[in-house]
Amino acid sequence: MGYDEQVNEHRLPPIYRCRICGAYVEEKTHCGYGCTLVLDGVRRLRLSKLLAALLRHIPHEVGLLIDNEGWASIKELVNAVRTKWRNKSLYSWLREEHVITVALLDRKGRFEVKDGKIRARYGHSIRVLIPLPEDKEVRVLYHGTSTRSLRRILREGIKPMRRLMVHLTLDESDALENAKRKSSDIAIITIDAERLRLMGHKVYRAGRKVYVTDYVPPSCIVEVREMRLNSN
Ligand SMILES: [Zn+2]
Repeated sequence: MGYDEQVNEHRLPPIYRCRICGAYVEEKTHCGYGCTLVLDGVRRLRLSKLLAALLRHIPHEVGLLIDNEGWASIKELVNAVRTKWRNKSLYSWLREEHVITVALLDRKGRFEVKDGKIRARYGHSIRVLIPLPEDKEVRVLYHGTSTRSLRRILREGIKPMRRLMVHLTLDESDALENAKRKSSDIAIITIDAERLRLMGHKVYRAGRKVYVTDYVPPSCIVEVREMRLNSN
């Protein structure tokens, strides 16, 4: 439940490799020539979800070793998925290049790749220590949730629950997307990030538009918008 962040999408744009400069791109042509297909949109989305699940939550499912800063060997990851994933045919095509390109082109900056290793930059439920840059600029952040959780949040604040940190977004639309995954009765919470800092809760930048903190007290919530989405 709820491990992936792309439930509302069915596919992502395919990934191509330029035959001239070698860059990984989402365009069919580059440097004036047609590119080679690396990963189609359906496989890209499936792999992206799998990487997020393995690196954040369930490395043990395939016996993948993750160090205390969240890194896993890409080679070991590919081997583990191809030999130990419950439906082997699902990933028989997997190569290291696929993992690398999915990480490099991720729109939210979920992954980091270095020296043959990969890690999720945020969203872990397994215990890892990833040093994130502290942010002192952003003023307003958002959090999307279900109206069911709202009453508790207004009383007790926003807690990390199953994750290690509270996840906040820079854009209201991303908070909306997050909330949609939880419920069709949703609430978008606006948070005063400056007040959060003044109360001693540091704000860290985790992804391109994702920020994390340890806890959001009720007094830092400045607005709540509830909405009911059509469920069809
Ligand atoms: Zn090129």
